[in-house]
Amino acid sequence: MNEIVVHFPVRMDSGEVEVFTGYRVQHNNTLGPFKGGLRFHPDLSIDEVRALATWMTWKCALAGIPFGGAKGGIQIDPAKYSRAELERVTRRFTFALGDAIGPEYDIPAPDVNTNAQIMAWILDTYWSTMPAHDRQRCMHVVTGKPIESGGCPGREKATAQGLVFCVERWAEDHALDLGKASAIVQGFGNVGSWAARLLAAKGTRIVAVEDAGGAIAAADGIDPEALADHARREGTVKGFPGTRPVTHEEFLSTAADIFVPAAMESQITGETAPLLRVRLVAEGANGPTDPAGDELLRDLGIDVLPDILCNAGGVIVGYFEWLQNKRSESWDLDEVDAKLKKKILAAYRQVEQTSRERGGLDRRTAAYIVALSHLQAVYRERGIFP
Ligand code: GLU
Repeated sequence: MNEIVVHFPVRMDSGEVEVFTGYRVQHNNTLGPFKGGLRFHPDLSIDEVRALATWMTWKCALAGIPFGGAKGGIQIDPAKYSRAELERVTRRFTFALGDAIGPEYDIPAPDVNTNAQIMAWILDTYWSTMPAHDRQRCMHVVTGKPIESGGCPGREKATAQGLVFCVERWAEDHALDLGKASAIVQGFGNVGSWAARLLAAKGTRIVAVEDAGGAIAAADGIDPEALADHARREGTVKGFPGTRPVTHEEFLSTAADIFVPAAMESQITGETAPLLRVRLVAEGANGPTDPAGDELLRDLGIDVLPDILCNAGGVIVGYFEWLQNKRSESWDLDEVDAKLKKKILAAYRQVEQTSRERGGLDRRTAAYIVALSHLQAVYRERGIFP
């Protein structure tokens, strides 16, 4: 529906001024306010943001939450900037977006390289532009905030938690004991590190992990808690004691039951899909599989839990945060987890049912059918103006 591109200046610690480019693509708000994350990445382009915004529309429709789809971000490599610079960049971007976002209109959230702290700066900047007496009723302009600033317990792990609820259900249906299973994880940011931790808590061995800095493997399993400490300190999983360094190809061809891609788009392609030696791909990332890769996974008999189902936990708990802010409520973690499980498994069941009804249709197409049928029904009812 709308594409917003902003260019804005920010003063660096050195005193120099740098001009940044930011995007917000608002794909569709038929089912509710635009919703979607903001990512900070040096290669971010409007085309990528368009795709990510579109997936948000379908994801929210599939999850049955009253949101549309949007996505945005800034073309920036956050590793190259100080915390103070990132704060000024975030605030100036928020200011540049102005009325394009709003608690009942378009609600950003964390995504690649953004986190609760950045959401707190967005909230504070948005508030600073409003009359004092309007501020409190706009707490839900952004989700994924720190708990103290109106965030929701369990939001940080929510995407991975939703993924693990889906994987558990799949494992039950396919006689896989997660206590004896193994997994490889690509990406060790929010989704990857939490997926590794939550799977390890079920007894699953994490046998290889890859991030932008390199890949590591250990047949006996990698302790994700200790790896998270290492990655926080070193900025990469590479060099984690007790593991051996492996190449990208070796990482992808590590034998395991489950592969969790939780990094960037287009990782599973015509070239890389044949390397995989797993039973299940559980998509934590958005768009990790390209069309050629998808076809090959089908041919190879590797099952897929598609992104718009498998990573919907983040936006589902984002919805819970938004609701709590609107109602001045605070739910506890057990309540959040129970509600998340119920919602994501309802979507899972719908996808399974559609797949069965259509003669064993792949889950990704089935998920698109569920999501787009919902949107189609609304378009039919409302018609097109004028
Ligand atoms: N960035 C997350 C996603 O891709 C969450 C979006 C949100 O909560 O709005 O689903």
